Amino acid sequence: IEITDLSFTYPERETIALKEINLTISKGKKVAILGKTGSGKSTLLQLLVRNYNPTQGEILLAGQQLSVYTESCLREQICFLTQRVHTFSDTLRNNLQIANKTQITDEKMREVLCQVGLDKLLEQDLNLWLGDGGRPLSGGEQRRLGLARVLLNDAPILLLDEPTEGLDRETERKILAMILKHCENKTLVMVTHRLTALEQFDQICVIDDSNLVEQGSYQDLINKQQGFFKGLVERI
Ligand code: ATP
Ligand code: MG
Repeated sequence: IEITDLSFTYPERETIALKEINLTISKGKKVAILGKTGSGKSTLLQLLVRNYNPTQGEILLAGQQLSVYTESCLREQICFLTQRVHTFSDTLRNNLQIANKTQITDEKMREVLCQVGLDKLLEQDLNLWLGDGGRPLSGGEQRRLGLARVLLNDAPILLLDEPTEGLDRETERKILAMILKHCENKTLVMVTHRLTALEQFDQICVIDDSNLVEQGSYQDLINKQQGFFKGLVERI
C-alpha cells in the first residue's frame, strides 16, 4: 500500500481530515496507527477501502491506483473491521458468513465463536436470530462478533479499527495474540488507543490533528526525545 501526498476533506466539511499523508506499507507488515480522538485514524481506513476518494494525492495497492479495482476485488483483498460493528437482522450463521465467498463450516464457526469468547451464543445454535427482533448483543459482544468475522476471513489485507476497544486487558491480550497469529502472512493495519502488544508491530504511525507526525519502529519512536509516541507511552 503506497499512500502519497494524500489529503482529504469530508464532503460539506470545511476542516481538513487528513493532510499530506505519505506512508508505505509493505506486504506482510504489521502497522499500528495511534492518535488522539478525532485526529483522522478511522478516516484513513475509510479511504483505504475506497468509501471515500482522496481530495488530493493517491493510494496505490500492489502498484495500481485504488480506483482501478472492482468493488468485489477490493472486498476480496481487504477485510475491514469498522469501529462500530454492524449486526444484520439475520441468523448468527449468516452474520458470520458475511463477506466470505467460500462457505464456512458450522464447525469452524463454533470454534471461532469460542475463541473470541462468544460460546454463550452457542447455547442456542447458529440459527440464533440477531439484529431487529433478535437476541440483543452488548457492546462487548458486538466487538467480539466483529473479531469472529475477522478470524473467519482470509483476505490478505486486514484493516482493524480499534478491535479491542472496551475489552478488559486480559481479554485484549488474548485477542491481540489471536489477531497477530491470524495475520502471520497477511498485512495488518490496526488503529488502537492502547499500547498492548505494540512492540510486536513492525511500524507505528502517530496521527495528530490530521497529520502523520511520526512513523517508525517501536524502538525508534520510544527512543525519540520529546516524540509524540514517547509522550503517549509515558502518559498511559
Ligand atoms: P476516534 O479515535 O475518536 O475514533 P479518529 O482519529 O478515528 O477518532 P476520525 O473518525 O477519522 O477520527 O475523524 C476525523 C475528523 O473527521 C473529525 O473531525 C470528525 O468529526 C470528522 N469526520 C469523521 N467522519 C465524518 C463523516 N462521515 N462526515 C464528516 N466528518 C467526519
Ligand atoms: Mg476512529
